[in-house]
Amino acid sequence: VILKTSEEIELIRESAQLVAKTHAEVAKVIAPGVTTQKLNDIAEEFIRDNGAIPAFLNYNGFPYSLCISLNDQVVHGFPGKYELQEGDIVSVDCGVIKNKFFGDSAYTFAIGEISDEARKLLKVTQECLDKAIEKAVVGNRIGDIAFAVQDHAEKNGFGVVRELVGHGVGHRLHEKPEVPNYGRRGSGMKLEEGMVLAIEPMINAGKAGVKFWDDGWTVSTVDKKVSAHFEHTVAIRKGKADILSTFSYIEEVLK
Ligand code: MG
Ligand code: MG
Repeated sequence: VILKTSEEIELIRESAQLVAKTHAEVAKVIAPGVTTQKLNDIAEEFIRDNGAIPAFLNYNGFPYSLCISLNDQVVHGFPGKYELQEGDIVSVDCGVIKNKFFGDSAYTFAIGEISDEARKLLKVTQECLDKAIEKAVVGNRIGDIAFAVQDHAEKNGFGVVRELVGHGVGHRLHEKPEVPNYGRRGSGMKLEEGMVLAIEPMINAGKAGVKFWDDGWTVSTVDKKVSAHFEHTVAIRKGKADILSTFSYIEEVLK
């Protein structure tokens, strides 16, 4: 695990804040009739205009700047010709590299009126992230974060994806340690000052099972029920985590 200095954490914050502002650019245009390719292109241009590089583009061959995952897709979906429709939920995952440091954050958008089940899923998944971040402090363990997500999701009758996990982030997009969304309290690696983690609950309205598409990337639910994904980049501190990304720019646009 690579611990970061305060100076490095400020650079990661700069990248994570740019991710947050990129999400807000997406929020400004996301609506029925808009293609997911358009969202990708707006994000890529905004990232480059701000002196940064889209971190996902060409990462292990990923061909786009955003992961856009619709409805029953969990993560790693491809932008394309699909026109958004009222009732869709759309997970948008974005990463940037600026000053050689990575930020990573994801948000699931509702397109117009969505089903009661989808609305509850978005609320609970965001609560899972909040509860996980409350546990992301010096002296706790990875398992405390993991348990917080799993416990809240399952109490609400939802399925917790096992095959994909959060991660350390900073010098690279994916660093150690892995941060699962399921596990036992008090288990796993101890959290230390200077750790920077991408905490990212991926929660399914139905069962936990996922399938991997033969495009090599897209992951969707086995039971075809909807899935949500919220992610923040977080620095571990004593007492309270320092959230380096934010949803406040998105919320400003959506209110
Ligand atoms: Mg991400
Ligand atoms: Mg991530």
